[in-house]
Amino acid sequence: MSYTYSMPTKVFSGKGCIVAHSAAIRAHGSKAMLVTGRSSAKKNGSQADVIKALEKEGMDYVVFDKVMSNPTIACSYEGAAFARKNKVDCIIAIGGGSPMDAAKAMALLAAQDIEEKDLFTGNYPGDVLPIIAVPTTAGTGSEVTQYSILTNDAAATKTSIATPKIFPKVAYIDPRYMAGLPATTTINTAMDALSHAVEGMLSVRASVISNALAKESIRLFAQCAPELAEAPAPQWTKFSEATREQLAQCALLAGMVIAQTGTTAVHAMGYSLTYFKDIDHGRANGLLLAEYLKFVQQDDPQLVNDILAPMQVKDVDAFQTFLDRLLGSKETITREEILSFSQKAMHTKNIANSRVEPTQEDIKAMYLASLQVNA
Ligand code: NAP
Ligand code: ZN
Repeated sequence: MSYTYSMPTKVFSGKGCIVAHSAAIRAHGSKAMLVTGRSSAKKNGSQADVIKALEKEGMDYVVFDKVMSNPTIACSYEGAAFARKNKVDCIIAIGGGSPMDAAKAMALLAAQDIEEKDLFTGNYPGDVLPIIAVPTTAGTGSEVTQYSILTNDAAATKTSIATPKIFPKVAYIDPRYMAGLPATTTINTAMDALSHAVEGMLSVRASVISNALAKESIRLFAQCAPELAEAPAPQWTKFSEATREQLAQCALLAGMVIAQTGTTAVHAMGYSLTYFKDIDHGRANGLLLAEYLKFVQQDDPQLVNDILAPMQVKDVDAFQTFLDRLLGSKETITREEILSFSQKAMHTKNIANSRVEPTQEDIKAMYLASLQVNA
């Protein structure tokens, strides 16, 4: 088996790990820019802990707290300009995938002069500012990936900056910050993690190491799923501490998987559901995952059995039932949307990254079966 494995991010996990291991931040700079969403980092204790760690290390900081969900290119340039103006030498991302991804783009753009037309070329000759990541959702795994996924209005989709230069240097996993995450976001982000682990196994770049990480991530998801499915209301937050902890580890491992393998056709199809229909990233993947497994099964039933084994469901239909409980009622889609979304999906790199490559017709059929069709 020929493969490359690289995971340059140092991970600290556990309650209070930021303050306990603050020296790891100091090792990467003396003045930090904290990058957050609009409000959650101020409420869940993560920003306060980072500030405590910086004060302990005698470090200076500024805060950029304007990152929206599905961050834009404009927001990334704005944050980078703020970083330059304040002469910061490291970036601390606090939040879900959106602040983490925006922070990675800012770290690149603060250090290099890159025109917008060249942003996704992969050609970034200089250094980037060091990035420290503090996830407060359990889903994207962005704390351990080399991707920054931005809303790209010129292409009417989401596009990735992908370079090993934006791997965070350090990631701090403290599930206490996720204690107030509402059920809907908890479930959607967990679906993203599951999708990363499953797609990692479906990728042409899957290896013995990425599969080991993926299977453990799937097993952790399966352990948490019954509690997630029983959440009484979308805003419910009171999941057990054990579930919060397991979801954080599930997402971390799945992030390590896609750092090696990339994602596949599921993410390719999901991007349009997010861009055009405002469906959360993780939910978009969750809606499509079972149909994609059914498609792969026709070609490679053993691969699908390997994926379902740690989930402890007997077949893809049982997997679909399991996901349906979590997803609730599904969004509608028109035939025109299916045609245009399938064309877009075919233009992504993720399709060629899939061990069983779908055609445009296959993709149309998967959209059709995954959502409610609005004639
Ligand atoms: P998100 O967009 O970062 O956050 C969703 C919402 O959750 C925001 O309203 C946020 O509020 C809130 N929130 C965050 N942490 C919270 C907490 N602890 N308690 C309460 N509310 C909290 O969602 P996400 O699913 O984590 O990230 C999605 C993004 O990640 C997408 O853009 C996707 O494309 C990207 N992604 C990246 C990778 C990668 O490898 N780089 C992989 C998969 C997905 P605030 O805005 O106030 O913070
Ligand atoms: Zn994802």
